[in-house]
Amino acid sequence: MLEKIKQLETASRLLEPSPEQRASLRDPVIRYSENFLNRIYEIPAYVTTEDKGKGIFDSPISDEPLDINAVIRLVEYNIDRPGLNPASGGHLGYIPGGGIYFSALGDYLADVTNRFAGIFYGGPGAVRMEQMLLEWMMSVVGYPRTSGGNLTSGGSIANLIGIVAARDAYNLKAKDVERSAIYLTSQAHHSVDKAIRIAGLKECILRYVPVDERYRMDAKALEQMIHSDKSAGLHPWLVIASAGTTDVGAVDPIATIGDIARTHRLWFHLDAAYGGFFVLCEEGKKILKGMEKSDSLVMDPHKGLFLPYGTGAAIIKERKKLSDAFWYQASYLEDAAKSSDEISPADVSPELTKHFRGMRLWLPLKLVGVQPFRAALEEKLLLTRYAYGQIKQTPGFEVGPFPDLSVMTFRYIPRRGDANVFNQRLIEEVVRDGKVFLSSTRLDGKFVLRIAVLCFRTHLNTIEYAIDILKRKAKQLEETM
Ligand SMILES: *Cc1c(COP(=O)(O)O)cnc(C)c1O
Repeated sequence: MLEKIKQLETASRLLEPSPEQRASLRDPVIRYSENFLNRIYEIPAYVTTEDKGKGIFDSPISDEPLDINAVIRLVEYNIDRPGLNPASGGHLGYIPGGGIYFSALGDYLADVTNRFAGIFYGGPGAVRMEQMLLEWMMSVVGYPRTSGGNLTSGGSIANLIGIVAARDAYNLKAKDVERSAIYLTSQAHHSVDKAIRIAGLKECILRYVPVDERYRMDAKALEQMIHSDKSAGLHPWLVIASAGTTDVGAVDPIATIGDIARTHRLWFHLDAAYGGFFVLCEEGKKILKGMEKSDSLVMDPHKGLFLPYGTGAAIIKERKKLSDAFWYQASYLEDAAKSSDEISPADVSPELTKHFRGMRLWLPLKLVGVQPFRAALEEKLLLTRYAYGQIKQTPGFEVGPFPDLSVMTFRYIPRRGDANVFNQRLIEEVVRDGKVFLSSTRLDGKFVLRIAVLCFRTHLNTIEYAIDILKRKAKQLEETM
């Protein structure tokens, strides 16, 4: 047996590269990432390819090791070339991503040391770091120090956490579900619907509150619906509002909804996954007034703080409501449970073992401070207003509602033919060019184009280019269609 163990040890030691081997792996990775970053303002936001990265299948997972340079070629050709480049400032579609470099260094540190950030006993410093980041978020949105929170993988899980905490805080039992009403709008993010289903609440009565001409929840209608549901003997219990919808970036009347929720004793869940961090700049703070009136709130550092994908946050105004919903006990975790009364992320989340997300958020905030984030967020707001003004005054174009945050919609009205077909062609042409990437949506049956400004690399020249190519392509299509 000892002979066998020694053989296995020799083989398993391949998992531990020597200092020289580490350098020979690291250098090509650094060279590749440096080359990527040095060209980031030139490489396209979207690349249309025939193969769509299919070449990755030609190198199946097997016992055969592959040289680092061959590995990088695989990644470069199949992963980083086809489709959308979320690191590009030209990404003006959906809700753009970020990917600040400081976070990559944070991830590197977190991965090398592999600190366990799930339980205080195991990683007290890591847990404290995450708690400090959450307390910073609580303070910027105006939540009290008695709030609780969790760094999640993104807004979807954060919405789930908020809705589950609400369900348990209201002690909603299966038998109550059919007569219990949830209020939201048609503009709510689909992850909210998903969370409702996952939380076992799909048989609740879903009341879609009408929206105003800017796609914001009509607060008067909300109150009327609650009244009439109450009179009908139903149980109104949850209102879900958005601080920045995906389609048009609309901010629901948060403060008024907060007052209505309090009067009628509803839980107020605010999905600020996209818009929440705009509270860091003065202009955004005005638009988001009343956030502190919510009972639970979602915000995504991988959107509004420009982090790489994989970091969201849920914060709940009463910490106990959060831990009541997610506490657990297991015999193999007895040491952990005894250790202290510090909050462990695992007590307030569906997750136990998780990525040490705090490091990728903490490091950039420490290295550059909060100020560049405030500036970038205000810049994105103003760039969107600028784009709105420019497109509005361009003959042939029609704009949607004035942007609350950093999303605006518009379309071109062709002199002849179907506007929906024309705008579909227009977006195809812009995406084929690839320097900027736009996405579309449907509003009241109209096919409209969107400009969403949230990548930290999007600056005035990007917006000027986007407006210019829209004008050029619209003109060409007018001549040829
Ligand atoms: C992005 C987004 C979500 C979902 O968040 P993920 O991080 O993608 O899981 C939820 N709500 C809104 C308003 C969003 O913009």
